[in-house]
Amino acid sequence: MPVLLNISQLAICPVEGPQSDAGFVNNAALVWQGEEITWVGASSELPDQFHSEPATDCGGRLVIPGLVDCHTHLCFGGWRGDEFDRRLRGASYQEIAQSGGGIMSTVSATRNASFVSLVQKTREHLDGMLQLGITTVECKSGYGLDVKAELKQLEVYRQLSEQHCITLVPTFLGAHVVPKEFQNAREAYIQLLRENLIPTIARRKLAHFCDIFVEDGAFKPAEARQILNTAKQHGLGIKIHADQLSNGGGALLAAELQAVSAEHLEYVSAEGIHALAQAGVVAVSLPLASLFLREKYLPARQMIDSGVRVAVATDFNPGSAPSYHLPLALTLACLNQGMHPTEALMGATTIAARAVNMHHIAGSLRPGYKADIAVIDAPNLNHWLYHFKDNSCVGVVKNGQWAHRQSGFATGPGL
Ligand SMILES: [Zn+2]
Repeated sequence: MPVLLNISQLAICPVEGPQSDAGFVNNAALVWQGEEITWVGASSELPDQFHSEPATDCGGRLVIPGLVDCHTHLCFGGWRGDEFDRRLRGASYQEIAQSGGGIMSTVSATRNASFVSLVQKTREHLDGMLQLGITTVECKSGYGLDVKAELKQLEVYRQLSEQHCITLVPTFLGAHVVPKEFQNAREAYIQLLRENLIPTIARRKLAHFCDIFVEDGAFKPAEARQILNTAKQHGLGIKIHADQLSNGGGALLAAELQAVSAEHLEYVSAEGIHALAQAGVVAVSLPLASLFLREKYLPARQMIDSGVRVAVATDFNPGSAPSYHLPLALTLACLNQGMHPTEALMGATTIAARAVNMHHIAGSLRPGYKADIAVIDAPNLNHWLYHFKDNSCVGVVKNGQWAHRQSGFATGPGL
């Protein structure tokens, strides 16, 4: 049974209780067997039976649950670096989209990319995420917007689920925008989603969730209600991209439909916040997108104080958040969203796991949970998020196996 010793601060990140309580244990130890955590506590209380087990000395570092990135658009063709300068000169997201850039350019690059090249590119992203301590990733389709290419993206996720150690949670986002060829036939596209894609994806178990972008230029709340109700009837969970660029009623709809999460919410109304709290919908904040778009940040302080659980994720995508650096997102959440470091960490562990319905097996360091663990080169949480190094993660255990470990760790039986 592998043991971790000499942990200066360990964050349990319990599934119950307030977001402000990460259940810290100082001078801690942790034991796992197979893929499951079996013991966590102060090292002075480590039972004798574990003293001669193979141990790793964490060198007085911080240990946290493997991070959960609960909102990414992980698989896409091409990049959009050519839009960067235009954006800096003042062109808006919507203006760039209207001139043929934006989402539509990624849609054509994704449609034209081979399955093999998409698998390769997505695998490289996952390798980079793992090095940062990320062990579970939600990943959306939505750059295909036709039957063939939407299924291709979801098949990429299926293949990588079998080949990569990171746990993938696929989400169908066929309702990202209405594709060009349906610009004058929205109804027909919605029909394609409801009568063809959603039933096919549900039958082939290619996604756990169905997501939709509710916004001017994307889908109206009434259309979203139809599409999401169809998804529910086919057994898919519900997520909504809500109130990102304006208050479009997405938060209210998420509460009404009992969505597992509502994402973005930069322009959420007080009424929307109240509805999310009442319905227990997780709010997913995406501070890298706010940074990159130079837009508002989600009002996390107000939401947490109103009883909403707030997750923090990257929104990794080529257009509005071209980084999967979740630890940087946590620092930004502290600096720009009024979150405390503990709340930010909880938002990328147990609360993020809740946003993908995995909070009873992932995102906490408790006996019975998966042994998904990150060792961070900092004496405590505050130091980690304050210092925001390029990468402070020096060790990752995924499903009970060391998936990444820098040299310099002392190991041996009982140490
Ligand atoms: Zn997104």
